[in-house]
Amino acid sequence: MLNFEEEGVTKPLAGLRVPPASGFVPPTPATTPRSPADAAFRRIRVEDKRIINSKADVNQLVPFKYKWAWEKYLAACANHWMPQEINMSRDIELWKNPRGLTEDERRIVTRNLGFFVTADSLAANNIVLGTYRHITAPECRQYLLRQAFEEAIHTHAYQYIVESLNLDEGAVFNAYHEIASIRDKDEFLVPFIDTLTDPSFRTGTPQADQKLLKSLIVFSCLMEGLFFYVGFTQILALGRQNKMTGSAEQYMYILRDESMHCNFGIDLVNQIKLENPQLWTAEFREELTGIFRKGVELEYRYAEDTMPRGVLGLNAPMFKEYLRHICNRRCQQIGLEPMYPGAANPFPWMSEMIDLKKERNFFETRVIEYQTGGALNWE
Ligand code: FE
Repeated sequence: MLNFEEEGVTKPLAGLRVPPASGFVPPTPATTPRSPADAAFRRIRVEDKRIINSKADVNQLVPFKYKWAWEKYLAACANHWMPQEINMSRDIELWKNPRGLTEDERRIVTRNLGFFVTADSLAANNIVLGTYRHITAPECRQYLLRQAFEEAIHTHAYQYIVESLNLDEGAVFNAYHEIASIRDKDEFLVPFIDTLTDPSFRTGTPQADQKLLKSLIVFSCLMEGLFFYVGFTQILALGRQNKMTGSAEQYMYILRDESMHCNFGIDLVNQIKLENPQLWTAEFREELTGIFRKGVELEYRYAEDTMPRGVLGLNAPMFKEYLRHICNRRCQQIGLEPMYPGAANPFPWMSEMIDLKKERNFFETRVIEYQTGGALNWE
């Protein structure tokens, strides 16, 4: 048992020599131990915690400062699910039946998987290799670790659908190179991911902090908050017509997770803004507006590509309105003026689905309910 006073520990413990977090500032005299033996001064104070560039030890989760992050972590754990719990036999049967689905419906499924199979890997890389290093609030890191696992579950879910339907996995997993509407979305995102994953990138200057904030905004508001929505709507529209209900159910669980990722990202952004108001300049806001406009355009092109004709009661022009509606919402959430005043929501049923807080068996396809709180048996 380690006793700080007995040991007189003032240096980092052996085996705990972790590189400092991005933007780490050495402790100021106020937080430096007064005497070499006084290691208790390493206990963190709530007021020293910051989302970025914190002076407090990132390994000490408590005392909590960012309760909202901890609560999201708990909620995310309570929503745990695994792809193989969902029965895919009806999907397999329908997919194999030559008259089970129209060509346009099949196109929606394969295009969707083409985008999503790699999108969640990009999201995971962005968290694990990028964002995590630069966020210095342990409550937020705790959520990011949970989120990273959820991205893995999502990639697993898409892989499971691809395998169940016996699709050409090489074509699906390489679609982000081969299909222009998918490639364009990913190429738009990559520079923002690269900023955070660049090993030489450090926060701590106004320019670097703005870069970080911009990447976080692109990620939560556009990647998770906009680029998933055409695909989600299409697959859920299939499910609502009692087609591909296993896949639709997988997407429901993913949508529930993703809407929490998006909300967490937005809370993170707003907290950084609150702690660093100097970053939120008029130029910065204008730059963001341009980026958002581009994001809406790219997602609309994806809608056109996936729906050359009307299908399932949906068509591309309906999504022009929907994407503008979502974009307005994202703008409001981070404190920007809505960019498309008056844009309406043509899919109110989507909002109902997103708002489903509690776990349920959406299309009655889930095989088991996830067992939580199971105790270990020591006998
Ligand atoms: Fe995500």
